[in-house]
Amino acid sequence: MHARIWTVRTTATAAALTFVAALPVATAHADTAATTTTAVRTQSVDYYTWLRDVAAVVAEARPYIEQRTADPSGEKQAIVLDIDNTSLETHFHPFWELPTPAIAQMRDLARYADSRGVAVFFVTARPGIIHSLTDWNLKKTGYPVDGLYVRDLPDLFDEVSAYKTEKRAEIEAKGYTIIANIGNNTTDLVGGHAERTFKLPDYDGQLS
Ligand SMILES: [Mg+2]
Repeated sequence: MHARIWTVRTTATAAALTFVAALPVATAHADTAATTTTAVRTQSVDYYTWLRDVAAVVAEARPYIEQRTADPSGEKQAIVLDIDNTSLETHFHPFWELPTPAIAQMRDLARYADSRGVAVFFVTARPGIIHSLTDWNLKKTGYPVDGLYVRDLPDLFDEVSAYKTEKRAEIEAKGYTIIANIGNNTTDLVGGHAERTFKLPDYDGQLS
């Protein structure tokens, strides 16, 4: 009888120990899974991974700009940049802490283009009410700014991609050849009016 109880207790204890031993592991797995899911679905994009991914695109864009500006033949050349998470590290800094830092590699690319005689235009879906603030932020963080397009009231009714395309067409109408259009969302890049597009990561729309 005693023996049987002991056996039962031992078995129960062993089962409990197994359960307890397994618990942290299971929890750890669950946490990892949750973190991974969060990273994919919400705002946990890893900053350093993002910077590396941005660097890979800049590494393609720079030699292209170098080659494309080697002989401008009197052409007025321009590049167009999106702002949030293309020029400024918007996703990774609270909006109330200003200025929002530049993405250093992109600022260097913009300065390089500027040094090669290329005009640097910004086309953003930001509303007109923060035009001055955005202009100040870009300049304060070291960007050359030849033009900044924000969404004015009538533009707010356009699809973002249609609005951005329209602004590139306006830049072209001023006599510029847009040699590169750089953005992190597809809506920054579709619609033509640029010789080449460069897409930075948005991780399935997580980065605006
Ligand atoms: Mg963006």
